[in-house]
Amino acid sequence: MSAQEPDATAQTAPPELFVLRDQEGPILYAPLGNLIARANEPAVAAALAYAHDPSTLDFMSEDERAVVETLGERGFFKHRAYPRHVVGFRPVQVTLFPTNNCNLRCSYCYAFGGEGGGNGEPLTRMDLEVAQRAIDLIARNARQRMDDGDPVRNFLVSIHGNGEPFCAYDLIREIVWYGQDVAEELGVPAVFNAATNGVLSEEQLDFVIANFHSVNISFDGLPEFQDANRPIAGGRGSFRRVDHTMRRLCEAGMDFGIRTTVTAAMVDRMPEIVAFVAENYPGIEQLHFEPVWECGRCVTSDNVMPRSDVFTQRYLESLEVARERGVRLVFSGARQDMVVDTFCKVSSGSFTVTPTGDVTACYEVSYRSDPRSERFFFGRFDHELGDFVFDQAKLDALSELNVHNIRYCDDCFCRWHCAGDCAAKVLDGIALEEHHGSVRCDISRALTLNQIQRKLDWRPTDG
Ligand code: SF4
Ligand code: SF4
Ligand code: SF4
Repeated sequence: MSAQEPDATAQTAPPELFVLRDQEGPILYAPLGNLIARANEPAVAAALAYAHDPSTLDFMSEDERAVVETLGERGFFKHRAYPRHVVGFRPVQVTLFPTNNCNLRCSYCYAFGGEGGGNGEPLTRMDLEVAQRAIDLIARNARQRMDDGDPVRNFLVSIHGNGEPFCAYDLIREIVWYGQDVAEELGVPAVFNAATNGVLSEEQLDFVIANFHSVNISFDGLPEFQDANRPIAGGRGSFRRVDHTMRRLCEAGMDFGIRTTVTAAMVDRMPEIVAFVAENYPGIEQLHFEPVWECGRCVTSDNVMPRSDVFTQRYLESLEVARERGVRLVFSGARQDMVVDTFCKVSSGSFTVTPTGDVTACYEVSYRSDPRSERFFFGRFDHELGDFVFDQAKLDALSELNVHNIRYCDDCFCRWHCAGDCAAKVLDGIALEEHHGSVRCDISRALTLNQIQRKLDWRPTDG
């Protein structure tokens, strides 16, 4: 279907009934029940009145009563429980940042990769012992939770970084081998995934293909953008290397996704990026478009965020190309199929360990010198103790970062999908009560509305 202008100021009615509008008229939307219906204006008025006060039924015309009855039969007025994230820190996943060193110098890097976070912090790598104790912890939890009957099937080790993790390749090998040994010992399968810039040697690629379950590659979609925005330290372009990596992953039949950071200079070519990726890397699991966020090294470069309306329009055009070519396209804020109260695991015990052994809930806050670490750091590896120590008060405070507590989102129909967006971006230096959204809200709402419209338009023959 063609892109339609959303009315982002959607009306709301208690308990959880929203009215959205597009060029074809009103849409009634009950997010907690995933219920969607086109309605005319009188039907909308009757539905809102009844949802607000069921006693109004007594004063309705026959037609209005019929509308309320039909919607009621479909569950539109049913009371449904709000989603709640799990409280209690018993992780079965860890994200390890082996190093903050990096072989690239991306112009918009949020972490000043290879340059110590931009605050003169040293380039460092994680001690193997830190990684081993983190794996012990999650593997033990997984074993206990499986024995307790929790629906846990494995433990998950994600390799990520505030640098390029494979710059510490020898450490990664030790981590994987250790994880595999622990898995065997405890009888709990281990799953490994990695996020990388894709500038890998043949040996590293062989290792990834043999040992990792999935990989995410940061790639800017077209050779000229990749070479300009994501150069190798020293200045040469990186496209040739990353292209080679992705072709090898395709040949190996490996699950991998591509994350493309979109700047204002790139935005008009998003559909072309989808076509390029589909043609050259068939079988990729998903292509993730995210507008650049102006932080880190980006602030010192000439990269700027694309206008939200332009990003939205190009994304919708890209969706058409993606559908034709069989590519799954995602943007983090538009996920109508999810009903959640938190945007990410930052509120529910995300266990991420930095190269210095600090424990952070947020991937983008990984240095003690970052003022946001006060909020997101909740533990550290204690070398004397030989184990992790956690700050329960910090975990409790992080648990409060959820959409139940964000008044700004109360009237937003994306409330249980976007769930208040990325805390690192929207709460930079402010308290939760001061959350006032961001330019990303326009994109999230427009693309979520599009997902709703697509469901309305879906016919069995659509496949
Ligand atoms: S590869 Fe990642 S860590 Fe390295 S400079 Fe680029 S964005 Fe930063
Ligand atoms: S708060 Fe934002 S940056 Fe931090 S982990 Fe969540 S999504 Fe990522
Ligand atoms: S952050 Fe914005 S788009 Fe997301 S739920 Fe809140 S108001 Fe809606």
